[in-house]
Order: sequence, then structure tokens, then C-alpha cells
Amino acid sequence: MVSARIKSVLHGTGGSPGIAIGTALVVDRTHLQVLEFSIPPEQLSDEIDRLLLALEHARQELRRVRDELSTQRGPEHLYVIDAHLLILEDSMIVREVAGFIRDEEINVEAALRRTTHKFLQHFAAMEDEYLRERGRDIEIVMERILHHLVGNHHHPLPLFSGKSILVAHDLSPTDILQLDTSSVAGVVTDLGGRNSHTAILARAFEIPATVGMGTATTVISDGDLLAIDGVRGVVEVNPDEETLASYLLRKRRYDYQEQELNKLRDLPAETPDGHAVLLQGNVEFAQEIPAIAAHGGQGVGLYRTELLFMNRETLPDEEEQYEAYAAVIRAAAPYPVCIRTLDVGGDKLISTLNPADEANPALGVRAVRLSLREPELFRTQLRAILRAAVLGPTRLFFPMISGIQELRAAKECLREAKRELAIQGGSYDDAIETGIMIEIPSAVLIADLLAREVDFFSVGTNDLIQYTLAIDRANEQLAHLYEPLHPAILRSLKIIVDAAHAAGIRACICGEMAGDPEYLPILLGLGFDELSMSPAAIPRVKRVLRRCPKSQAEQVAARALSCVTAAQVEDYLKSEITARFSESFD
Ligand code: PEP
Ligand code: MG
Repeated sequence: MVSARIKSVLHGTGGSPGIAIGTALVVDRTHLQVLEFSIPPEQLSDEIDRLLLALEHARQELRRVRDELSTQRGPEHLYVIDAHLLILEDSMIVREVAGFIRDEEINVEAALRRTTHKFLQHFAAMEDEYLRERGRDIEIVMERILHHLVGNHHHPLPLFSGKSILVAHDLSPTDILQLDTSSVAGVVTDLGGRNSHTAILARAFEIPATVGMGTATTVISDGDLLAIDGVRGVVEVNPDEETLASYLLRKRRYDYQEQELNKLRDLPAETPDGHAVLLQGNVEFAQEIPAIAAHGGQGVGLYRTELLFMNRETLPDEEEQYEAYAAVIRAAAPYPVCIRTLDVGGDKLISTLNPADEANPALGVRAVRLSLREPELFRTQLRAILRAAVLGPTRLFFPMISGIQELRAAKECLREAKRELAIQGGSYDDAIETGIMIEIPSAVLIADLLAREVDFFSVGTNDLIQYTLAIDRANEQLAHLYEPLHPAILRSLKIIVDAAHAAGIRACICGEMAGDPEYLPILLGLGFDELSMSPAAIPRVKRVLRRCPKSQAEQVAARALSCVTAAQVEDYLKSEITARFSESFD
């Protein structure tokens, strides 16, 4: 007798947009069980030898996978495997694992697990979601080493026929890269967040995915019918006919919209009354740059350089930084790249630099404050940027500027870096455009003064909201108070853009607000010249822009500014704005 399939609904995080319907294929990628036992002192060096051998095997395996994939997938997605190879080559792993083996006199498998826990605790404490997710990369690499230690290779996922939805506890980036996308309709994982590599790659391959579903692999069985919503992070398991019909309808609508959005790619980013706004992408790596043009954007509005400095024992030298910046500038050419100087501190840790135990890391030695405290480090970065800037249009900007003196000190470091390069000889961009992030309320209040001393403003709304409303941006308990449409934020945006324009400089936004199509009429109406966002957000913002006359947007902004609460602005946007631009917001 065939048992009835159980209907249920799971909620998690939208990892990659789109609707998928198909039968479940549950794959077991669970962790290996590891026993811990004592090792006699005279055998400890054998355990360390086993570790070295497993590491070598893991490296060979990953290089083989990389070679195979470079022909199948092309080079642009291989950065994930390169990142894993880098982790495998990091001497810290050997040091840490060997340390546990020697100090605790335990077997290598257990020492590997303890090291993984130690690394994961460190990453879990990070404020930045993207960086927290990078801890998962270490976990995946450690698991790969473990498989080699127990003589159990990490097999690729099974091939399967028909359109299936893959359900797994978690998938490694290599798993995703090796997927046959013609037979996978969607992906569901227990673990992972929006910025996990599973999600990033699923978005790159346009496979709808829901991540962080918690118990999907226990609730879902092979052959269950699944309907997944990769935007909202919902999985319907064995839905009834009515639910299934609604998903089919939404899928058709979504796929149609995607086709329509693709048509926008090569159309100008301008309003019907001819007002152009530069739409750009936020990136951390050169490898993300093709996605900007693929989504119809023009260059990089925020290149976050901090990832280059993290998860390592030594700081990148000038040459390494130069290569990284040059790669980004070359990949984006002929479009411009805005390079932000180091924005670490707080919970974005560089072990060699951060002050220990600050009581208030968010208000502590971070961003430009850290750079000014470490002038050698700062000038090294500035020299690398100035040298790379001759390769294509480049601007540079300083994060978290709070006042004029700080700005002048940063600009003095820039002048000093130029002097050093002039003495050395060699080419560099002597006239690089220099701007600042506006993300601290003090900078808003003196925006007119700051505007006289820089070439552009870029508003970091993520931090501006945090500091203006005194809401820790990572504190989920306060998430309901983190209000982008709070009147204080809208007034701040107006002060910033007006001050910029009065001084004849450009006003940009590179915080998350820029990528929300619902906010576009307000931001356009206030007069922002450039919006930089995650590349995938560009088409929807462009669509609204192309339907939103500047004159109407100005009315919307004025009306929004007259509201007294965020809820009132929200209601206004939902009713009147969706009525004016109805088709643009789904
Ligand atoms: C911001 O604060 O809005 C911003 C873009 O910077 P980050 O998110 O890197 O702090
Ligand atoms: Mg910021």
C-alpha cells in the first residue's frame, strides 16, 4: 500500500528568486560522525602525517574538479573553488589542527572537528552577514579533508532524470557547480542564508532556491511534490490543487516578467522625461562584475575591499592589492569603479589589527578611523588604488567619515601616498576623484561643509539608518524598528542630496535602499544621480525608473517628506505609488 503523502509548508529564506515546481530528490550530504579518542604521545606525529596526506589529496581532488569545470562552466564561477583551494593551502589549518593533536593528544579527525568549531565561532560573531557566511566555506573545506581522512571521497551529486527539486541539508559550491541545470528545477537546503555560496551560485545560474529551511530534509521525502518560492523562501510540500494552481500561475507570471526584464538590459537607465540615473553594482570580487552588465548595470558603485584583508594571518601587500584592484577595474572597463578604502573594525575582524575588546564595536575603531590609526596600512592601500586607477575610470572613497578633520587627515594620507609614488616613479592617477560615504548623522548635518572638500557623496544607508535610529543593524529583535522610510532618514537624504548639488558634486546611494524598486520614486524625486545595488536588483529598479517621470517622482518625494511616520510613508507608497506604477513593483 502506498502511504499518503503529507502536506506541509516550510518557511525559510529566499536564496535565489523564481518559482519552481517538481518532485523532490533528497540527497544525503550529512556530516560524517567523528569519534574522539586519545593517542599515545609517540604516535602523535603519525596523526599529523595523516593530516598532511589528507590535505594533499583534498587539494588534488579540488584541482581536478576545477579543471573539469573550467571547460563546462567557464572561468567566471571558479572563484569559489579557488577560494576553497586557498583555504586548503592556508598554513593556519595545519597549525591549528596539529596544535589540537599535540596539546590534547587526540586523533586527527577529532582535532579537525575542534578546529572547525573554533573557526565557526569566530565567524558566527561577525556582524556582516556576508562574512558570517564565509565561515561556511571553511566548514565545507574541513568536511572535504575529513572525507579524505576516512577514505571516503566527496562524490558528485547523483544524476537524475526529469525536472527535480534538490533537497539537501546543505550543498557545497562545488555541488552547485556540478549540477546539471537542465534537470534541476530548484534547490532547497536546511542551512545557508541569502549570502551563502549556495544562494549566490543559484542566483548566478538562475535556479530558484530556498535556503535556511531548517528541517526540510527531515520533513520532505523523495518523490514528494514541491512548489518553491525562491523570493519569499517558502516551500509547499505536497500542496493541494488550489495551492498548486496558484504556484503554476505565479510561475508563469514570474517567468514572463523575467523575459521582459531581460529586454531592458540594453535600454538606457532613464525616466520617460529623459532624466538619466547611473545604475551600478556593489561587489566584493572581480568575479562578480560580469553579473552587473548581464543585468544592465554600468560599472561598480561600491567595491568593498575588506574581504581582501580578512580570514588571513598576514595583510595583503601593495602588489597583491594592486592585482586585486586592477582585476576589478579591468573587468568593469569601460565603466567606472568606485573603490572604498578599508571598512573593517567592529565585528569585521582582522586579527592583526583590531583593538581588543571594545565595549561598543559599532562605535569603535572601525573604517577610516582604523585606517588613520594605521597610516602605513592606509597608504599602502591608497598607493595600490592610485596605481591601478590608470587602468580604467576609477574613483575612491572613504567610509564612515564623521567630520572635516577626519576627512582632511584622510586626504593628507592620499597626498602622501601620491608623493611616495611620484618619488618611486611609475604611473598612477594623480587626479583621482575622491569622495566619502555619508553614513553617520554628524556627516549629514555638516554635509554642506563636507561637500566643498570632496568630488562626490555616496550614502551608506545601511549604517546611516543604524546610527540615526540607534538600531543595531544586525539585531533581529530590533528589526521592526530598522525603518528606511523613517522621516529622519528621508530628511537626511534630502539634506545630503541638496548639499551635494549646491556644491556641484554628484550624490549616490550604495546602501541597500538603492536596490529596492519601491523606494526608487522617492530617491529619484529627491535627486540622487547614481544608485548602486546588488547586480540582480538592477533590472527591477531600471524598470521602475523607465516608467517614472522625474516630475512625478518629485511630487512623490515631497509628499513622502510631509509624512510623520515611516508607516504613513509606507502606506502612501503602497497605495498611490503602486497605483501609478502598478506593474512595476511585483
Ligand atoms: C552602508 O552602510 O550602507 C554600506 C553600503 O556599507 P556597508 O554595508 O559595507 O557597511
Ligand atoms: Mg557602511
